[in-house]
Amino acid sequence: MISVEQALDKILGYVDVLEAEPSPILDCLGQVLAEDIYSSITVPPLDNSAMDGYAVQAKDTKGAGQQSPRLLRVIDTVTAGSVSEYELEVGTAIRIMTGAPVPKGADSVVKFEDTDEAQRKETSAEIGILVEVEPGSNVRRAGEDITRGSLVLAKGVVIRPPEIGVLASLGRSTVKVIRRPVVAILATGDELVAINQPLPLGKIYDSNTYSVAAQIRRYGGIPRILGIALDSESSLMTKLRQGLDADMLITTGGVSMGDYDVVRDVLAKEGKVVFWKVRMKPGKPLAFGMIKGISQGGVTKSIPHLGLAGNPVSSMINFELFARPAILKMMGKKNLAKPVIEAVIEEPMVNSDGRRIFARAIVKKRADQYFARLTGPQGSGILTSMSLANGLVIVPEDKAEVQAGDMVQVMMLDWNEEMGVV
Ligand code: AMP
Ligand code: MG
Repeated sequence: MISVEQALDKILGYVDVLEAEPSPILDCLGQVLAEDIYSSITVPPLDNSAMDGYAVQAKDTKGAGQQSPRLLRVIDTVTAGSVSEYELEVGTAIRIMTGAPVPKGADSVVKFEDTDEAQRKETSAEIGILVEVEPGSNVRRAGEDITRGSLVLAKGVVIRPPEIGVLASLGRSTVKVIRRPVVAILATGDELVAINQPLPLGKIYDSNTYSVAAQIRRYGGIPRILGIALDSESSLMTKLRQGLDADMLITTGGVSMGDYDVVRDVLAKEGKVVFWKVRMKPGKPLAFGMIKGISQGGVTKSIPHLGLAGNPVSSMINFELFARPAILKMMGKKNLAKPVIEAVIEEPMVNSDGRRIFARAIVKKRADQYFARLTGPQGSGILTSMSLANGLVIVPEDKAEVQAGDMVQVMMLDWNEEMGVV
């Protein structure tokens, strides 16, 4: 049986970075920029005020103090978005609002609090300056953020909210990014019922479709739900065909010992099986292969197929370990790993059959140290155990047992924001 690393290497070996496409900037959150962005403008375009106050010549404030106001004649008011027609001369001031361009002739801004404006009517033709300022005070220089012609965002950057803001500040409404993969999901099992149907005795709702679709969306892919296939070759074939124009196909279930025959036969007919079974717990019966896609322009490309284990926890853990990195690679990302931390385990664990265990755990930080405890029963059908967990405690294949108080590695599924516990 192959190791987790060998399985991931094989999968990534069959997965390519997708093409770039133009996209509206707000849709690009989490995507990888596929072009260098140079600025065709200067930001801010003009020197402007950092404060509400009075634009002045600094030399006019010499000797100003609380007890010795320097009186200046107010010749205009300039608000953000407009430009004063006046040129400021010695002995004059222009009332100015934050973001408004600094008028010609002015070199600094005195904020309202450092004037006697509060004691005057707002329309006063005169203002008393109560402090000395240096040239440049409270002035934001043209180009202090971005200079025209400069490289602002380099190809390969992962787009977060600040990058979207920066693109907007350049007036860009669309940008080239590596496109999101479309990932088709097919649940398999005669026992499954769609969530909008009544539940007959002996059946269960198909939850994998939704947990996996949510994972796909969380990591940036576009889920395409194909529905439920029965455990028969013909049902599987029919449903599978609807997903063959996707970038990746995920099936869940039908890969455990007695079950695998149907999925394998179909895969063998439609493509090739690369591996089946990984030395891990839960999620051992993971299958991976390449399926012939639909031909476009005479070329038939193959699409990667991940056959996730059917148990609800197993399919989610299989996804985190294998589908997630594959999706990230397709999206052009370089960092494919979840963060792994060291924590003190608070209870003993046993590893009886030489597989790598991924146990659902709650990680908390106390006094600069992480502590992990299990979420309770670890049955791979207990989906609520995933919901309680923020990390997966990793017990290596060759470690037969772990004592309470030992250091273990924990792959973090969620960081503090979502779970509020780290
Ligand atoms: P299998 O690998 O098909 O034998 O499935 C293993 C276990 O997971 C069985 O108990 C199935 O009923 C359950 N299971 C499989 N697919 C789903 C699904 N889509 N939603 C919920 N449970 C599932
Ligand atoms: Mg099944």
